[in-house]
Amino acid sequence: MLRGLMMDQPLLISSLLTHAAENHADTEVVSRTVEGPIHRYTYADSHLRARQLAQALTRLGVSAGDRIATLAWNGYRHFELYYGTSGMGAVIHTINPRLFIEQIIYIIDHAEDKLVFFDINLAPLVEKLAAHCPTVKGWVAMTDRDHLPALTVTPLLCMDELIDQEDGHYEWPVLDEYTASGLCYTSGTTGNPKGVLYHHRSTVIHALAVSLPDCFSISAKDVVMPIVPMFHVNAWGTPYFGPMVGVKLVMPGAALDPKSLYELAESEQVTMSAGVPTVWLNLFAWLRSNNLKFSTLKRVVIGGSACPPSMIREFADVYGIECNHAWGMTEMSPLGTYGTLKRKHLELPIAEQFAVKVKQGRPLYGVSMKIVDQAGDTLPRDGVAFGDLMVRGPWVTKGYFKAEGGDVLRDDWFPTGDVATIDTDGYMGITDRSKDVIKSGGEWISSIDLENIAIAHPAVAEAAAIGAVHPKWDERPLLIVVRKPDAAISREDLLQFYDGKVAKWWVPDDVIFVNELPHTATGKLLKTRLREQYGAHDWTA
Ligand code: AMP
Repeated sequence: MLRGLMMDQPLLISSLLTHAAENHADTEVVSRTVEGPIHRYTYADSHLRARQLAQALTRLGVSAGDRIATLAWNGYRHFELYYGTSGMGAVIHTINPRLFIEQIIYIIDHAEDKLVFFDINLAPLVEKLAAHCPTVKGWVAMTDRDHLPALTVTPLLCMDELIDQEDGHYEWPVLDEYTASGLCYTSGTTGNPKGVLYHHRSTVIHALAVSLPDCFSISAKDVVMPIVPMFHVNAWGTPYFGPMVGVKLVMPGAALDPKSLYELAESEQVTMSAGVPTVWLNLFAWLRSNNLKFSTLKRVVIGGSACPPSMIREFADVYGIECNHAWGMTEMSPLGTYGTLKRKHLELPIAEQFAVKVKQGRPLYGVSMKIVDQAGDTLPRDGVAFGDLMVRGPWVTKGYFKAEGGDVLRDDWFPTGDVATIDTDGYMGITDRSKDVIKSGGEWISSIDLENIAIAHPAVAEAAAIGAVHPKWDERPLLIVVRKPDAAISREDLLQFYDGKVAKWWVPDDVIFVNELPHTATGKLLKTRLREQYGAHDWTA
């Protein structure tokens, strides 16, 4: 082999912030703090504090490979932890504070977290956790001395104090790029959560890929507000691609209500944002009722669950915002596909362009995909055949932390658990989560398609379709619906709305109206709960 003569320079997470500090030194990171005020500083300030933090962690005895947990919202201290920990060779383990406490205890124990950093509004949770987490050697409040919560946990440390004790004269170590950098447990709706362990290389390449024009299309002119939390697959890469590209970052903290988000986006002139569909449903309902529009927001990324086509359309038509569909999973760092058009689509009528945009998108370079049938045979890429979606690539996991779940790959492909189509242009459309697909008389009905139709009705705020047990057909679709406030719609009206939109046998057999639907800790519809509650539906009633 003739070896090339390019430098052996590993792709390291620390290099992202170093780059920002050198080339975007005065670009701001703005955070709504849990203490209340808006905090603003620059990438240069952040780089200094991240290095001080690395020094503090070293002083506390943290060494390479140790897991350092966070229970925190999107904010500058959390951002510093992303760099202080991974940069020194330790692993940041972001925990979703909305999980059940038993799950959090399980996760901390499984990860063997050494320290837990927490936002002070989560102090009551920490108080409940502490006695059950023997691996944890210290609980660090992400605040200053004045705001240190009164907790009985020991030792209780103060993040700002730890940082202030250090001088910041710290050189990031040159690590192997395959060194573990981050740990995130999947929010599985069944079984124990499983840990996905990212490395520096996968993280940096993912950040490069998602910044491209056919994906998030991020530039140093952008102001990016991640609504997706930093504990949900690294806010889809925002803390990494932000400094890589030099965007102004706007962190909404714990205030995720529509009014707070809107005000922050307006005052900081946010140009791009990302979040799960429920966040946007709430935000746009609020905008509508207050007769408001965003003045600088131009692009919105929606993922994590299927984005109702009606939402993509409303964003464009009513608000002039380009809304793109992203698909991915914790196991994929998370981005797999992104829904932008190609040149050839620009000639098409809007309705046909729209039909492309409502799919989950085409793979980013680096991600390979195929769909297979039950026997594992590859199905055609014709946009019609649907099967189990398999993926692989440099930012896709090859197995869970501590080999949980055993060997998960099938012939070197990762089975996503999603059922999908792929068309000749590479666009992938999720039909369903394999366990959510409605199996009626041996045929499959897509619960997502049924939900998308319901949500397009002007009187419907949110809808879930589940397969409820049926004596003749095995399962039949049952629709569970939340009406918009003050909207009136009957079961018959809603069912009629399906006429001509799907095959007759796909039309739900019944509708139940409820006040709210249950969601998982990452904002997805909690279908397991709905099946428990409504799965034994009485069709004769
Ligand atoms: P998580 O690991 O929590 O991010 O969940 C990943 C799963 O969320 C995927 O396997 C899909 O089932 C679902 N998902 C993510 N993005 C989308 C999307 N754009 N459309 C439909 N489902 C999605």
